[in-house]
Amino acid sequence: MAISENALKPATIASLAPFLAIGVVAVLLPFVGNDYWAVIGTRAAIYWVLVAGLNLIVGFAGQLAIGYVALLTVGAYVTSILAAGTVLPPVPLPLCFAAAAGVGALFGVLVGLPALRLRTFYFAISTLGFATIVTQIALAWRSVTGGGVGLAGPEFPPPFNTAWGFYGLCLGAASFATWISANIAHSRFGRALVAVRDADVAAEANGISKAILLIPIFLLGGAMAAVAGGLFATLQTYITPDAFTFDLSIMFFIAILIGGRGSILGPMIGTIVLTILPEAAAPLASWSTFLYAALLLVIVLAVPGGIADLIDFKNRRAITEERMIVPKPALLPQLFAHRPTPAALTLNGVVLAFGGVRALDGVDIVVRPGEVHGLIGPNGSGKTTALNVISGYYAPQEGEARIGGDPLPAGRPELRAGLGIARTFQRPRLVAAETVLENVMIGGTISGRAGFLATLLSLPGRGRDERELEARATRALQAVGLEALAGVKAGRLQHGEQRFVEIARALMLAPAILMLDEPAAGLSSDEIRRLGELIAEIAKQGVGVLLVEHHADFIFEICRHVTVLDQGRVLAAGTPAEIRSHREVVDAYLGR
Ligand code: ADP
Ligand code: MG
Repeated sequence: MAISENALKPATIASLAPFLAIGVVAVLLPFVGNDYWAVIGTRAAIYWVLVAGLNLIVGFAGQLAIGYVALLTVGAYVTSILAAGTVLPPVPLPLCFAAAAGVGALFGVLVGLPALRLRTFYFAISTLGFATIVTQIALAWRSVTGGGVGLAGPEFPPPFNTAWGFYGLCLGAASFATWISANIAHSRFGRALVAVRDADVAAEANGISKAILLIPIFLLGGAMAAVAGGLFATLQTYITPDAFTFDLSIMFFIAILIGGRGSILGPMIGTIVLTILPEAAAPLASWSTFLYAALLLVIVLAVPGGIADLIDFKNRRAITEERMIVPKPALLPQLFAHRPTPAALTLNGVVLAFGGVRALDGVDIVVRPGEVHGLIGPNGSGKTTALNVISGYYAPQEGEARIGGDPLPAGRPELRAGLGIARTFQRPRLVAAETVLENVMIGGTISGRAGFLATLLSLPGRGRDERELEARATRALQAVGLEALAGVKAGRLQHGEQRFVEIARALMLAPAILMLDEPAAGLSSDEIRRLGELIAEIAKQGVGVLLVEHHADFIFEICRHVTVLDQGRVLAAGTPAEIRSHREVVDAYLGR
């Protein structure tokens, strides 16, 4: 593993320690165990090659792929058929595995594609359907697969043809699988996966396209599963379709669930435990499915976060109670060094009705670069809906939104970040299970340079991206006054603090337009004052700020222009002084 500056931090060493411990046990196993243990160890290593890839799909991206045994089957048959030379002339082993990885990657995407359209449950069923189809084809296509009789698995040359030799090879494969999955997990891709899982709307607003993100993950997961399949065929020495049971699929899935979502160590321990468990309970072999299910129930009920949560001691420490948000607006110019060209945001005659309710009824708004534009109005007057139209979540029935004269395509919210439009949400949308710093880094996803392959193999670009993102996120956190909480899981923060984390995340884009949806809700009066200073300073960087608020005084103090909405219509628009003296506004809203 390349030693970066990162690897020398005590926190990094602490997080590597459990992996080293497992590695030491694995390396010592041949010196203390017999051939029986060689088989179990080999099996655990092979399963992990599959689970490490599947973990990115299930544990990180939250996609319920439960029929993954199908890809193990595909890999086992492709390698065995090519190595046996019954259909084509015999192919050298490395090529057999390369072919299996290729076919597995292809099938990985085919199985995964429905996830882009189907809701979780239906996707889970579609992966199961695929598993059934693969088994049926293996049974029926006798001339190639040997049907129910099966065929011999590939044989490795010395020194890998002994029990411990093959164990060593599989251990190497498992280590490599761990390394590449960790490279992805600890990168903008890994953080984006978790964002898609836990905060998909915010992920889109930060420029993350679920489809573009998931396709390389499905390719990788499929390739890793198929390679595991080839090794599995060698371990079995002979494969038949009934070696690839539904139980196995469930086992992979449960290993990830009991391991804990968004962790690598947890599912690794889960895989090892679930491989050994049926052996330890050999007399109970016929009960193994029952045991898996029971174990799953216990974990889900007692420790919903899985093993990863059990061993996460750091996040059980109390966070300091005496904490105040003190932004440092002076740091903002550093964040806006590479700003998109300033551009005005306009809404022209936007109409949007939900059934009978006209949430927006001909709304015109212009937000100019460098000015704070207040959007006020009673509850339900259409403020959030206006932001959602700009974000692209809704297509207006009439009128349009534009930035710098270009229309904003509706239905493509993931394009907004690239156009320099950032936002926060009325109800904060953070990844509760990730640290504050990681949440802010999600905001910089689209500025990463290293591609998927470079990240997978930890080429220098990945390290550069990570250092750059971390430095910028740290600066953004300092600017909003939350740097003391950088290492705390976002779910443990108070609502007011979460709003500031969202502002920091939005600042990562160095946006031309920043939309804030009721950022002052739940703040103390001191904090509101400081928030006002921060927003004013953001506008000074040339950013057009569209500020939705309830607190009228707060708005009047920092806005240059104010638009008042009432039942989807613009009741009044003008300077704070004009609004303050607008009779209808005073009667209907300000109530003074
Ligand atoms: P505000 O942010 O000003 O409090 P909203 O923009 O959230 O108001 O809502 C404006 C109106 O549109 C409300 O009557 C609300 O019930 C309705 N509305 C908003 N979103 C939806 C939706 N997705 N489906 C149906 N009605 C909606
Ligand atoms: Mg609202």
